[in-house]
Amino acid sequence: MDVIVIGGGIAGVATAYHLRAAGHRVCVVERHATVAQGATYGHGGTVLPTPLDVWFGPTFMASRQNAKNGVVNRIGFNGAARQFVKQLGALQEPDAFARQFGRLRPLIEASRDALADVEARFGLEFEQVSGLLHLVRSEQEWEQTQPALDLLRQYEVPHQVLTPDECAAFEHSVRTEPEFAGGVLFDQERTGNSPLFTKLIKQTLDTQGGVQFMLGSEVSAIRLEGQRAAVELAPRPGSAARSREVDVIHADAVVVAAGHGSLALLERLGLRLPLHPLRMHTLVAPIAHEECAPHVAIVDAVKRIGISRMNHRLRIAGGAVLQGAGQIDKPLGEAVTKEAFALLGQATHDWIPGAARISAAMPWEGVKLLSPDGLPVIGNALHPRLFVNVGHGPAGWGLAYGAGKLVADLLSGQSPNLPDDTLAALRADRFQ
Ligand SMILES: Cc1cc2nc3c(=O)[nH]c(=O)nc-3n(C[C@H](O)[C@H](O)[C@H](O)COP(=O)(O)OP(=O)(O)OC[C@H]3O[C@@H](n4cnc5c(N)ncnc54)[C@H](O)[C@@H]3O)c2cc1C
Repeated sequence: MDVIVIGGGIAGVATAYHLRAAGHRVCVVERHATVAQGATYGHGGTVLPTPLDVWFGPTFMASRQNAKNGVVNRIGFNGAARQFVKQLGALQEPDAFARQFGRLRPLIEASRDALADVEARFGLEFEQVSGLLHLVRSEQEWEQTQPALDLLRQYEVPHQVLTPDECAAFEHSVRTEPEFAGGVLFDQERTGNSPLFTKLIKQTLDTQGGVQFMLGSEVSAIRLEGQRAAVELAPRPGSAARSREVDVIHADAVVVAAGHGSLALLERLGLRLPLHPLRMHTLVAPIAHEECAPHVAIVDAVKRIGISRMNHRLRIAGGAVLQGAGQIDKPLGEAVTKEAFALLGQATHDWIPGAARISAAMPWEGVKLLSPDGLPVIGNALHPRLFVNVGHGPAGWGLAYGAGKLVADLLSGQSPNLPDDTLAALRADRFQ
């Protein structure tokens, strides 16, 4: 089949990879001049999520204070945002959390296998570093992490629960004063550079052929026509004066993997997904003192701030801002932006003082989509020739290869190797 994939982030490129592997001809349409310029660029580095990484469950936004939960609530956020928080809040209940993580887990394992296969084939170097150390501040927060630790044991995820002294003995850069509650070490999990990985996969697809990248082209609308589908391209700057004709590309199927841009395209077709855009922040800071720098990634488990090492720099990601969905395209305002970046700087100082030169850090902000039940939306929607792959929240880098394989299987009429309840929990129509 001829398939158009809208979006050249990790989700779109991974989907193109699997569609090509399944024998389809693929065209990726990306509005930027190159791939990996959206949320994929801002990633925190964690490859595959554990129950401690997902953005739902007992610890996620458990406190109302920004400084404690790591999410800045922008004053005046609207009713839809409140409803979104309420729905996510239902997953703070340990049994609901366990059930929902149980539905996601087969996709995580499928992604692990698919990623291992890609790496074995191409031997890619993307600044991989082994080891993640999640750190928890207070005894109360430690209590709240217990349901996640139960899931780690239940699913036999390799990990070690460490006392503060053991954390510091393992990772010399972690300070022990003031006291903190403890840590969880994943020595087999990894961090990596998601935009670099995405670009390397694009290069392999360029070399092998079968995937065309239309860069610098924005899709303005999707058309669904009987057994065919098509996309309309927005006029390029300067071209509107010359022609009123709309550029249309026809195909047998369209996959929407356009991150935040997906919502408007789908809404125009009548599909309103209740995914919420969160503005996220990263700092890329030079290492200040090598002897103070960590050799594994450090994660502030409750604030969900990840600090990963990439050669001679530290990437610090988090500082989510929750605001009304309609405000997401407007500037945040200096005070809120400052507050979000301050959370990143403070977490770095709290856990690994002296490691990073925050004053010299490169700031970045962007948007990631989170669903009110914490799971992405992957599968067929609205029309037999329309597929979506969006809303991966905090884990789109890791889940991309399992998600892309799922889309390719569904589009090719193959039975996906995932349980029915996982497939149902990922479908777009679950929100109806
Ligand atoms: C700060 C931060 C930290 C994160 N940390 C991690 C982590 O540690 N581990 C992890 O697994 N995940 C992490 N994530 C999440 C992960 O980065 C995202 O889930 C993932 O990158 C989403 O990929 P995507 O391809 O769906 O979206 P994007 O990367 O946003 O790509 C969508 C693409 O579609 C294009 N597009 C949009 N509309 C159109 C249109 N109309 N026409 C043409 N092109 C269009 C955009 O230009 C963009 O390039 C993090 C995200 C952020 C922001």
